[in-house]
Amino acid sequence: MKAFVYRGPGKKALEDRPKPELRAPTDAVVKILKTTICGTDLHILKGDVPTCAPGRILGHEGVGIIDQVGAAVTSFHAGDRVIVSCISSCGKCDYCRRGMYSHCVEGGWILGNKIDGTQAEYVRIPFADTSLYHVPEGADEEALVMLSDILPTGFECGVLNGKVAPGSTIAIVGAGPIGLAALLTAQFYSPAEIIMIDLDDNRLQLSTRFGATRTINNHDGKAVEKIMQMTGGRGVDAAIEAVGVPASFITCEDIVAPGGIIANIGVHGVKADLHLERLWDRNIAITTRLVDTVTTPMLLKTVQSHRIDPQKLITHRFKLDQILDAYDTFGRAANTNALKVLIES
Ligand SMILES: [Zn+2]
Ligand SMILES: [Zn+2]
Repeated sequence: MKAFVYRGPGKKALEDRPKPELRAPTDAVVKILKTTICGTDLHILKGDVPTCAPGRILGHEGVGIIDQVGAAVTSFHAGDRVIVSCISSCGKCDYCRRGMYSHCVEGGWILGNKIDGTQAEYVRIPFADTSLYHVPEGADEEALVMLSDILPTGFECGVLNGKVAPGSTIAIVGAGPIGLAALLTAQFYSPAEIIMIDLDDNRLQLSTRFGATRTINNHDGKAVEKIMQMTGGRGVDAAIEAVGVPASFITCEDIVAPGGIIANIGVHGVKADLHLERLWDRNIAITTRLVDTVTTPMLLKTVQSHRIDPQKLITHRFKLDQILDAYDTFGRAANTNALKVLIES
């Protein structure tokens, strides 16, 4: 089968690989119909993710059809259409029993990281019963690809951890796919103001269409000043970090209001300074999280009812044998205006 393979920092290839086989009775093999590329995949390609070894098939998002299941899988059968969760969970360990699937002792974020992923014709999914979701009859499968990772990530790490509430003022730093997923799902809670901050005017225009009440292009480095003007010097109740670089985290430290929350979503590769000398007396909280995907069933219902329409995040479509072009398009998002690139079998 064809598969997209990480070959070490800066190196990637579309290769022929053997079709995966069942290894445990709890496994399923899924034929991938649609997958996509995550910002995290770009981090892996740069060499920022040491758990991902050269030779790994990347990808942790997708929708497919069950090809075969192990003897212990009871909820899924060959031919079922499924959403693949970016998080694999055994459902039995202490972390899973607490709903913290991201830290499952044998699972967590392993797909396209510690085990081969979804950017291929087939993928082996461990703990299939607790790591896959049925595609509802008649669903828009393109939209459902956004349920593998970005919607639960934006919602759980940004909106839930940021305790977005009716009437609150929130800022989302970073209007990429994850920031936009936070923007879409924050609106479940009717915040009074959603301020989006980015460096890309195209992404900010989209943010307005997707429900942002104000946008700031921080090309002049004056985002903090502008937010303070907009909020009467108070700052924001939730500062959601959706980039993963020190500057964006420090922006969040500078704009959080007394009693507010900094909710980090971004994948950070280097240290960011924590200015406790300014924050120690401001009654704030800082949260971090790897998505648990505990809200995926709920989010699936909101997509089904068109309460949110995540397929509007898809900007480009490719076939699997064009995946190198897809990476190129996604990697040059500032020039190509790419958000999510869909890759079809
Ligand atoms: Zn991802
Ligand atoms: Zn577990």
